[in-house]
Amino acid sequence: MSRKYFVAGNWKMNGSLQSNQELLDGLKNGGIPGGVDVAVCPSPVHLSQVGAAIKGSGIALGAQNLCDQEQQGAFTGEVHGGMLHELGCRYVIVGHSERRALYGESSEQVAEKFRIAQLCNLVPILCVGETLEAREGGNTEAVLAEQLGAVVERCGVGAFVDAVIAYEPVWAIGTGKTASPQQAQDAHAFLRAQLAQRDAKIAASVQILYGGSVKPGNAAELFACEDVDGGLIGGAALKAEDFLAICKAAAQ
Ligand code: PEP
Repeated sequence: MSRKYFVAGNWKMNGSLQSNQELLDGLKNGGIPGGVDVAVCPSPVHLSQVGAAIKGSGIALGAQNLCDQEQQGAFTGEVHGGMLHELGCRYVIVGHSERRALYGESSEQVAEKFRIAQLCNLVPILCVGETLEAREGGNTEAVLAEQLGAVVERCGVGAFVDAVIAYEPVWAIGTGKTASPQQAQDAHAFLRAQLAQRDAKIAASVQILYGGSVKPGNAAELFACEDVDGGLIGGAALKAEDFLAICKAAAQ
């Protein structure tokens, strides 16, 4: 089954009105390659600005998080999925390791965010990944099975028709250490096999992105792996030249 490549930039808590504009000008002037899905996920306060700037550019808008509540209401500081959709978001990242580690999000809470994202007509980008300790203890697959399994349990395998998975080993995020192509391929194949146990067709069609210190210099070899369908990019998404080079590696 041929899957389209997808490159999404996670800007995290970075940016200003001016720096965003410069970055977006760089992306638009540099030329987003065709044949590959591309999205940027700025801070929620910058969604309107970025959404307006990317109109007609072929770049989709994504958010980095959403509230785990189905209804709007008294949840100070939270952002409802419907608000993100109204601002033009197509995607929302759920379960990023920074949210799991720094804000204590459990796999059950992530699964609920995934469910609410879809309820709000957003495509969730579900992040899963093991810590260094888990990898060294031989528990990578157990962690991935638990994190993916919580969503399958809550939403059913059918929910993955309209979802993206991002394999992001925690030890590779923002550290400059990248998983080897073989490590990435093994984890991606494992995740796909987990879904295939329930539905082979859905498993074969879901985009699985790799995230963790992807750069222009290592993107091509990662994207060449059979089960790697693109990347979720942190640091390198903040430089137009680097992000475009990664998009071009996916387009080839
Ligand atoms: C991320 O935070 O999703 C990520 C992959 O970051 P980086 O590319 O900086 O490792």
